[in-house]
Amino acid sequence: MSRRISERVNSIPPSGIRRFFELVIGRKDVISLGVGEPDYPVPWSIRESMIYSLEKGWTSYTSNKGLKELREGIAEYYKKFGIETSGDNVLITTGVSEGLDLALRAIINPGDVVLIPEPCYVAYKPLTFLAYGEPVTIPTNPEFRLSYEILRDYARFEPKALIINYPNNPTGVTYTRKELEEIADFAVEYDVIVISDEIYAELTYKGKHISIASLNGMEDRTIVLNGFSKAYSMTGFRIGYAIAPDDIINAMTKIHQYCMLCAPITSQIGALEALKLREEEMDRIKAEYIRRRNFFVKRLRKFLSVNMPEGAFYVFPSIKETGLSSEEFAERLLREKGVAVVPGNAFGRSGEGFIRCAYAVSMEKLKIAVERMEEFVENLKSKRS
Ligand code: PLP
Repeated sequence: MSRRISERVNSIPPSGIRRFFELVIGRKDVISLGVGEPDYPVPWSIRESMIYSLEKGWTSYTSNKGLKELREGIAEYYKKFGIETSGDNVLITTGVSEGLDLALRAIINPGDVVLIPEPCYVAYKPLTFLAYGEPVTIPTNPEFRLSYEILRDYARFEPKALIINYPNNPTGVTYTRKELEEIADFAVEYDVIVISDEIYAELTYKGKHISIASLNGMEDRTIVLNGFSKAYSMTGFRIGYAIAPDDIINAMTKIHQYCMLCAPITSQIGALEALKLREEEMDRIKAEYIRRRNFFVKRLRKFLSVNMPEGAFYVFPSIKETGLSSEEFAERLLREKGVAVVPGNAFGRSGEGFIRCAYAVSMEKLKIAVERMEEFVENLKSKRS
């Protein structure tokens, strides 16, 4: 460990997803179901708007909070998820990643507890820790769901905040109104701020996405995070946003103005165009993911046990039957069959015994990948019996 580096940074592990990503780089024979990156191009109207803006020479800083038109557009857009807000309560960030960091730094005092249900997106624990908070992880139930009862057991930690993410990375779980009401009841009863990562909201396949901020008593205690990386394939543009009550959005803006100044103007222009995409365009993208999900889950179920994901583009099958750990499974599958997946333990201890497969790849690749996975698993099973 380098003494030049801060103890806090020294003590956090590198992302388990990136480690597998690096193993795959340069290997043409490998089919990667590893990284959560959509395979279809950014819709043309979005790209065109950005090219046009560059032609016009719009390359300056914007206001710290972001383009007013975009902030107002987002406030209008979020009505469909149940929130009535204004552009003043929206901050444009460089991806949900920055929004998450700002949210935590804006509300956490050293030692404050942040509850993090597991399995969870890889950034939640390290960013909480880097903000001097104390991450306390909560194993979800066997279906990877959260309930009031589960949460109440953790009230003894006197948590300052709770991070939820639905549709979920890595499990694909999304919450019903009733489940969200239970989470909201807990937050109101124990005075907890909810950081709600809704980056996969557009990719909800079962029911309609409801933002927890729209439930009774939640508007004043929810920080909604969302962005354009997943639904519009704009991962490289680094563009997202936060919606929060006045005091919190102002605190987040204060940090943002020092560490980021503003999100890139070209990306903000593209985001503005993304909001104009017709519902049919989004429905078409969604229908394609549903087709891939249905195919992949049906095939996987022949040799592994797996829940049907309700959103996002991940499947989280159990590999417990094979007798291998998640890491052993992922490493051997990559080495022996050329298929990259992410070991479940990258998403926390309760992800052990599972692997995450992203089905944001073409049907053609998905077919080959699942055939190779079947051969691999059947071979392991035959050796065990
Ligand atoms: N939150 C979740 C749940 C994610 O899965 C990801 C990316 O995989 C992010 C946040 C980061 O998103 P962004 O590209 O907007 O920083």
